[in-house]
Amino acid sequence: MDFRLSEQEEAFRKEVDDFIQKELPAGWTEESLYWPGGYGAIPDFEEINPAADRFRKRLAEKGWLAIAWPEEYGGGGRSHIEQAIFYERLSYYRAPGPDVGTLIAGPTILRFGSDETKREWLPRIAKAEIRFWLAYSEPNSGSDLASIRSTAIEDGDDLIINGQKTWSSGAHVSDYAWMVVRTDPAVAPHKGISLVIVDNKSEGITIKPLINILGFHSFNEVFFDDVRVPKSNIVGEMNQGWYYLMAALDYERLVVSIGGLRRTLEELLEYVRGTDGNGQPLSGDPMVRDRLAELAVEIEVADVFFWQTAWMLDRGLIPNIEASVLKLVTTELSRKLANTAMDVMGPYAQLERDSKLAPITGRVCTGYLDCISALVGAGTSEIQRNIIAMRGLGLPWS
Ligand SMILES: Cc1cc2nc3c(=O)[nH]c(=O)nc-3n(C[C@H](O)[C@H](O)[C@H](O)COP(=O)(O)OP(=O)(O)OC[C@H]3O[C@@H](n4cnc5c(N)ncnc54)[C@H](O)[C@@H]3O)c2cc1C
Repeated sequence: MDFRLSEQEEAFRKEVDDFIQKELPAGWTEESLYWPGGYGAIPDFEEINPAADRFRKRLAEKGWLAIAWPEEYGGGGRSHIEQAIFYERLSYYRAPGPDVGTLIAGPTILRFGSDETKREWLPRIAKAEIRFWLAYSEPNSGSDLASIRSTAIEDGDDLIINGQKTWSSGAHVSDYAWMVVRTDPAVAPHKGISLVIVDNKSEGITIKPLINILGFHSFNEVFFDDVRVPKSNIVGEMNQGWYYLMAALDYERLVVSIGGLRRTLEELLEYVRGTDGNGQPLSGDPMVRDRLAELAVEIEVADVFFWQTAWMLDRGLIPNIEASVLKLVTTELSRKLANTAMDVMGPYAQLERDSKLAPITGRVCTGYLDCISALVGAGTSEIQRNIIAMRGLGLPWS
């Protein structure tokens, strides 16, 4: 088995690297608050950051925003290995780019959408013209998504939607909801669900901010009161939404920041090489060395899972258990990285980025709080372990 990239893939990696270094605003990587896996550091959210938006548009012009989609839908027509190279490099530089549209909605439409749905939505996503938010969770439905109560009732050529979504990241800065609704209340819960695209500008939608653990407005509560949506916005078949949702969640779980984990470890290594603790170099402290070596090993293990899923996608295989393994391993690593940084840097790690004494631009301070988001969003660690136990090990669901 040869784990090396081909010559062509190495050349592409260099092309991506050069592009990012040229196009990303100076100092972006160093100043970004982004913690691998976290998604609550709103000042960096590309949706409200014009510099990030410009970078994203440049990616779209290059045909890289939807890099592995067919060219007929505005994609780059590249392999999933090349896509993985691209994502790894982007996350290494903490660069913005891929989002709900390119990572979750688009791949799901490509797999299950009609030709008309593909033609209508995919090119606009690939050109960075529209943004989506995920309308799954409700006040009483998170892990158990089949229990959603938001309804969509048929009315001629339309659906009328009523209900509430919550924890809706970026809903306030997006154009469309990628929404699960109950379209048939008379059947078993997972058999009466549909996936539908809803325009944020529709009458009857109210978006209210929720402030996250960092004090930022990253997510929202969203209320739907008699919201009218054309039936043509249903993705795939009506009442088959549960099946599509499971696939969409797998795509979401493949979104991992493998380059970001490595970059942050490199910064920690640089920190311990240049810092003394109690008059001794931190790099010589056995506890510090032990913790960093353990992280390095675990990042390498996660890296293998990351490339495995790309390899599977190129062969038409759908990573399912693999998506849960990758999500679980990388998000738990994100927390471990934050805990280790906190222990190694001591009280300095608690300083925010406006303090000149804050190491690595105060990223540990926010990352320590933000890493929790990764452990919960897209299905908690407990749910991933349940999926692995059931689908991977053949144990009953609990
Ligand atoms: C930062 C952030 C951003 C988010 N963004 C979005 C978004 O954009 N759109 C969206 O729709 N949702 C979003 N979510 C919501 C997220 O998907 C849910 O919070 C998550 O699925 C868990 O659901 P819950 O909060 O209802 O917790 P619950 O399902 O009530 O779970 C509570 C606890 O019980 C555990 N638990 C539940 N069931 C089981 C079981 N069967 N076995 C073992 N343990 C179990 C869970 O692991 C958890 O620890 C976001 C969440 C966060 C934290």
